[in-house]
Amino acid sequence: MTEVAPFQVARPRDVEAAIALCSGNAQSRYIAGGTDLMVNIRRGIRQPELLIDISGLDVLHAFEITDAGAHIGAGVTLAQLAADDGVRERYRAVAEAAAAIAGPGHRSVATVGGNLCLDTRCIYYNQSEWWRHANNYCLKNRGDTCHVAPQGKRCHAAFSGDLAPALMVLGAEIEILGAAGRRRIPLSDLYTENGRAHLRLSLGELILRVQLPGAPPPSAYAKVRLRGSIDFPLAGVAVSLAMAAGVVSAFRVALTGTNSRPFLLEGTESFLGRPLDEEALARLDKLVQKQVQPMRTTLASANYRRLAAAALARRLAARLAGLQGKT
Ligand code: SF4
Repeated sequence: MTEVAPFQVARPRDVEAAIALCSGNAQSRYIAGGTDLMVNIRRGIRQPELLIDISGLDVLHAFEITDAGAHIGAGVTLAQLAADDGVRERYRAVAEAAAAIAGPGHRSVATVGGNLCLDTRCIYYNQSEWWRHANNYCLKNRGDTCHVAPQGKRCHAAFSGDLAPALMVLGAEIEILGAAGRRRIPLSDLYTENGRAHLRLSLGELILRVQLPGAPPPSAYAKVRLRGSIDFPLAGVAVSLAMAAGVVSAFRVALTGTNSRPFLLEGTESFLGRPLDEEALARLDKLVQKQVQPMRTTLASANYRRLAAAALARRLAARLAGLQGKT
C-alpha cells in the first residue's frame, strides 16, 4: 500500500453544512461506510484534502416501508436492507442484491448511497500506485492512454454496484440535495456511459434517499463473480416480471458490471401481452447480448461476461414466470 497523503476530516452537524463544505472544495469527498473510498485512498487513486463524514446525519438513516412505497435513506446500511422483512417480501431483488455485496463486515457499514455512487472499476486502475506508475497510469487517472481500448479517448471502466439494477427494475427514484436546491430523478438518470465520470452529480450534491413505489411486480437479482463469497459482479442482472392470464403484463431487466453505467434493457415492452415461452426467452437472450458492452476491464473475458449476463436474464425471467428448467 502507498503511504496515505494527509487529509482532514470534518463531521458537519447537518446535511446543509455538509453540502456547504463539499460545494466549496473540489478536493473534498463525502464518506460514510468508506468501503470503496478508503481502499482507493490507500492505493493513492484518490487523494482528497478533506473527508466529510456524513455517517452520523440522521436524515440519511430514515427507512420506512408503507403501502404507498419505500423511503430508504442513503445512509441505510446494506446489512439493514438485506435483513429487512419488508424489503425481502416486497422488493426481493433489492434484498438479494444487498445480500450479495461484498462480505458481512463490509455490509455492516457500507451504505445504499455509497453503493449507488460506487466508483467504476478496471484491472488497469484498481491497482497499487507502483503498478499503475510502472504502466504509465491510464486515461482515467494521470495517464493519457486507455490500456483497454488504446485507440479511443473514453474510459470503459465498469460500474460494479449491485443495488442500482435491482432498484431500477422496481422504478426507483432518488432525491438529491445540493447547493442549487433539491431535485428528484429516476435512478437510471443518475448514470452516464463514461468510466471517468459516470455520475450526473454536481460538486457537493448528495443523494438523500431512494423512493420505491408501493406495489411493484415480483423481482429477483443474480450475479456472477470470481469469488462466490465476496466479489464485485462480472455481470449482474435484475428482473421484475408480472404475468396475468398467461401473458407478460410488466417486465423490466437491468444490468450491472458490463458497462460504465447500470442500465435498463431497452425493448422489454415488446414482451408485453405475450407468453414468456422458449421463443421469448431466446429473444431476451439476444437482446441482452446486443446491449451489454463488456470490455477487457476484468480478469474474466468480455465474451464470458456477455454470455453470463444473457444467461442470468433468461434464468431469472424463467424463474419469475414459474418456468423451472427453461434456462
Ligand atoms: Fe484506464 Fe482504460 Fe481501464 Fe478506464 S478502461 S480505467 S482508461 S485502462
